[in-house]
Amino acid sequence: MRVLITGITGFAGSHLADYILANHPQTEVFGTIRWRSRRENILHLEDKIRLCEADLKDIVSLKKCLAEIKPDRIFHLAAQSFVPTSWKCPGETFAINALGQINLFEAVLSLNLSPKIHVAGSSEEYGFVYSHEVPMKETNPLRPLSPYAVSKVAQDLLAWQYFKSYGLRTVRTRGFNHTGPRRGEVFICSNFAHQIAEIEKGKKDPVVKVGNLEAKRDFSDVRDIIRGYWLCLEKGEEGEVYNIGQGKAYSMKEVLEMLLSLSKVEVKVEVDPERLRPSDVPILISDSSKFRKLTGWQPKIPFRQSLQDLLNYWRERV
Ligand code: NDP
Repeated sequence: MRVLITGITGFAGSHLADYILANHPQTEVFGTIRWRSRRENILHLEDKIRLCEADLKDIVSLKKCLAEIKPDRIFHLAAQSFVPTSWKCPGETFAINALGQINLFEAVLSLNLSPKIHVAGSSEEYGFVYSHEVPMKETNPLRPLSPYAVSKVAQDLLAWQYFKSYGLRTVRTRGFNHTGPRRGEVFICSNFAHQIAEIEKGKKDPVVKVGNLEAKRDFSDVRDIIRGYWLCLEKGEEGEVYNIGQGKAYSMKEVLEMLLSLSKVEVKVEVDPERLRPSDVPILISDSSKFRKLTGWQPKIPFRQSLQDLLNYWRERV
């Protein structure tokens, strides 16, 4: 079987490649890469995977890759994935996430390929939720609160529409937050862990800069989530959408406290107004019973372990 991962250089994509190579060795793994992509997440894999240069904004490049690879399955993970950047660059976020996915789908259709396609949606699509709606099921209204979240709703609905209109074999997930080693430094858990690792090495004053510490998110380990992505294309029904998440929320304050409990440093915590968003989602908790019932998926890695691994990741890098 031939599998294409868009966004293989990223956080989830590189872990998915690791998982497939370790657990499904008969699978050939391909990934898209851009000419200036950072390769650090896949350096250890470069002799085991094949890379193809493609940008989601360029349908010509996508067609060339797809014609060459002819994948049986596509995990579509590539995206502008950072909520704060979507406030600063909403057009670019839309171009990559929404128009980029149209390019991918149109390229598949134009080549008469029929891969099963995973589309990585996000819990941010739910956005504003009332307390009586928590934990959210897939049927919850989508009330996105950032340009990123709106672009993920567009990806989600386009995947459904292309299934209905053209029979494209899409399966959607709405992944709740995930973290772990290789998480980009700008994302909150990773940013806290990075700051703590720098303070431990004496490279930074003992002050941790934070944004909104009240927001609560349902965190899973990336290695559990990507196992879910694999199961989604093994067992997921085409045209369907599935929540994947732990089902338990931690506030950012709890995340920071847990990370600090894994270290010996004494720090001051300072709010940085730059880190506050125009509108923030107060709480997101998943009801992933639909996915669990279908696939048997269960998260295996405790959150504290994910944070420990993340902190160790940064300790090796600062
Ligand atoms: P990352 O930001 O770590 O990785 C994004 C990937 O997309 C990179 O490989 C990047 O390549 C690629 N990419 C960005 N722009 C383009 C483009 N124009 N053309 C081709 N490739 C591009 O994200 P994650 O791994 O965390 O997320 C993967 C997916 O999961 C995303 O769709 C995200 O929205 C979704 N998601 C993530 C969650 C999380 O908590 N991590 C939660 C829910 C959903 P390059 O190296 O060239 O920049």
